Amino acid sequence: MLQKNIETFIGCDAEYEDAAVVLYGAAFDSTTSFRPGTRFGSRAVRSESFGLETYSPYQDKDLTDYAVFDSGDPELCIGDAKIALAQLEERAEQIFSDGKIPFMIGGEHLVTLAAVRAAVRRYPDLRILHFDAHADLRQDYLGAQLSHACVLRRCWELVGDGKIYQFGIRSGDREEFLWSREGHVSMHPFDLNGLEKALEEMKGHPVYVTVDLDVLDPSIFPGTGTPEAGGVSFLELLNSILMVCRKADIVGCDVNELCPAYDPTGVSTAVAGKIIREFLIGLCAGIEEKKA
Ligand code: MN
Ligand code: MN
Repeated sequence: MLQKNIETFIGCDAEYEDAAVVLYGAAFDSTTSFRPGTRFGSRAVRSESFGLETYSPYQDKDLTDYAVFDSGDPELCIGDAKIALAQLEERAEQIFSDGKIPFMIGGEHLVTLAAVRAAVRRYPDLRILHFDAHADLRQDYLGAQLSHACVLRRCWELVGDGKIYQFGIRSGDREEFLWSREGHVSMHPFDLNGLEKALEEMKGHPVYVTVDLDVLDPSIFPGTGTPEAGGVSFLELLNSILMVCRKADIVGCDVNELCPAYDPTGVSTAVAGKIIREFLIGLCAGIEEKKA
């Protein structure tokens, strides 16, 4: 029998009822401060994912061993960040209320705020683990509080002091760095060192993980709106994500800021797809391990 043409992320065609993890795309980039285009990230990475295998030699596990449901990209009001965030929050809310883990593919980084709003309502004791080149701690960006440059500051308003752990940060204005040193957030600049200790501190608490892919060095990930030299390698990020999957009680996560058009070779999209595959397998394996 012929089947409908439905393009999911590779290997993520389980039924909703069976899935512990639910994917969705956040095709939004309206507050992007420099080069726009991340709204095309989620669709590009789904399409490119078919160039990857579902098997991970790193983890000796296969994505098809697990049930992941890809719910597509909700339609968003691209012209209004407030409305778009509400629409994305609704998707996260539904996934949480069905007892599942939302896995969002951006889009620009502001979309994290929508998922974190829904996460905090369910898990008031939430911790946030943040990988990024940028601090994203501005109070406002050119007058706008809803901007991808302010997204972790908005998240901080929801979770409070000492709950946000940042890694790989190598860009921001002086105020952001001074503000972080006042103890509001735990910022680890330049690399991913200190992750193990942070995971120790987060033990026993629900964790939301947000990966801004520009934490990677632009030499392997140029396809992003605000590339920042001096980033981490693919293997460094991969190993960190796998450690997080083993050790943290992840309740929600996202991978964002892929902007396919700025890398005509397509390598950035392929890198993003591989990170997402490994993250999904690690997440599902972690859930099974913690259940056992
Ligand atoms: Mn960011
Ligand atoms: Mn960034």
